[in-house]
Amino acid sequence: METHYIFVTGGVASSLGKGIISASLANLLIARGYSVSIQKLDPYINVDPGTLNPYEHGECYVTEDGAETDLDLGHYERFTNIPTSQKNNVTTGRIYLNVITKERQGDYLGQTVQVIPHITDEIQNRIKSLGNTGDFDFVIIEIGGTVGDIESLPFIEAVRQLRWEKGGRNVVIHLTLVPFLSATRELKTKPTQHSVKALLEQGLQPDIIICRTEHDINESLRKKIALFCNVETQSVLQSIDAKSIYNVPLLMYKEGLDKEVLRKMNIVCEKEPDLEYWKEFLHKLEFPKYNVTIGLIGKYVELNDAYKSIIEAFTHAGVANECKVKIELIHSEHINKDNCQQQLQHLDGILVAPGFGIRGIEGKIIAITYARENNIPFLGICLGMQCAVIEFARNVLNWENAHSTEIKPDTPYPVIDMMEEQKKISGMGATMRLGAYPCTVIKDSKAFTAYQSEHISERHRHRYEFNNDYLTDFEKAGLIATGINKNQNLVEIIELPAHPWFVGVQFHPEYKSTVVKNHPLFVAFVKAAMKYKDKE
Ligand code: GLN
Repeated sequence: METHYIFVTGGVASSLGKGIISASLANLLIARGYSVSIQKLDPYINVDPGTLNPYEHGECYVTEDGAETDLDLGHYERFTNIPTSQKNNVTTGRIYLNVITKERQGDYLGQTVQVIPHITDEIQNRIKSLGNTGDFDFVIIEIGGTVGDIESLPFIEAVRQLRWEKGGRNVVIHLTLVPFLSATRELKTKPTQHSVKALLEQGLQPDIIICRTEHDINESLRKKIALFCNVETQSVLQSIDAKSIYNVPLLMYKEGLDKEVLRKMNIVCEKEPDLEYWKEFLHKLEFPKYNVTIGLIGKYVELNDAYKSIIEAFTHAGVANECKVKIELIHSEHINKDNCQQQLQHLDGILVAPGFGIRGIEGKIIAITYARENNIPFLGICLGMQCAVIEFARNVLNWENAHSTEIKPDTPYPVIDMMEEQKKISGMGATMRLGAYPCTVIKDSKAFTAYQSEHISERHRHRYEFNNDYLTDFEKAGLIATGINKNQNLVEIIELPAHPWFVGVQFHPEYKSTVVKNHPLFVAFVKAAMKYKDKE
């Protein structure tokens, strides 16, 4: 089948869940037997979100091929179980960088370089780069931002041109908000009408309108929206608030989203989607047999989005163990020696989060001491693993002021130091050790028990690493390297064999956890937390 394009725009307000709707639609089409990829177009000027503070834009997600991307790509992977790549996230910054680089190379000699056609052509090329691979029946393109934003104009214009070119092989879905006025107990359609008008002004007529709502939208409201927005009544669907994001594919199936998309493109599909696995997952999610509480120690805890993939990996691992994982976000800056017992004693497991810079480091280290000394299951991810190494150096090896050179360049014990290859690099964008690298796991280890494999591959995002000069000292004192990247001789996993479950990983296992393929380390960590709780 030739590639068909599905564009998803948003109106009225941001954060309505375009990413989840796109991922859910992909999920349903895949369950019908199609191949699907999802691309996110982000209107901001950063070339990628790698340099963005998580307060600004939530977690930075990392793909197999090392792209630093929007967190929506995490949802795409979790819902579809298909890896994304550099091609799946495009920002305005990237588009302009490419066009300006070409201009400097003389590719447009003699021409005035303009938004139309040069920028819009570049956007189209990026969209087609996924379709032209021939690998996908459908490419879903989620356009970030809200219709009416100045920044998203060139993207909408590129879609308008592409629609014209592609004839019937595309569909535009517009996601809007239908607010409920509690004073009059009414759902209001006017914002949706205005938002579709704004889209029409930019030359785009939506084919399907999805209304985000807190209450059921009845037939007469659907008719009203259809009438004002030039769509069929059956093309007005609702996306009602769900208990969990994982309910959305089933809710969308109930609304007939996949059917409507296929009908609009005149595609006949006899096969109904196979959703058995998904339903079973949801059942286990809703009716867990056990529960544990895990503390997530980080410095961006005011904002759930900063640790999205970790939180979702716990959802998947919880379901695998038929266990509800209650996550308590604990601010590392609020942990000190005097209050750590009171803050941490009720936890069944402690996870120390990834991060950069000095803020909150000492609180993380104190939490690790507490986990180590009290035999509480511990998982340290990236900076969390590095903090575990620092903690061990200071409190077991008694190396006063041991540190990472990221935080204290003049430490007498640089147990975490910059990677050799990083020392030559000066710029900050896309310059870390990024993406998937192989790792060899030693057999007698917690990691091996979890993975059941000596050869694994995990995604990375860091500049610093375990300093091998000290490895012998650490191993003699009881901190063992159980995972090594042999090509670069880098320590990727550390463990304390004397502790019931104490694992630190230099990579980010959370990026690879999906509904269909939960992550072995998270599954093992939750299991260890359940065991700990049982004993207590
Ligand atoms: N700041 C650390 C480094 O660059 C850890 C990075 C992370 O946690 N992702 O090595």
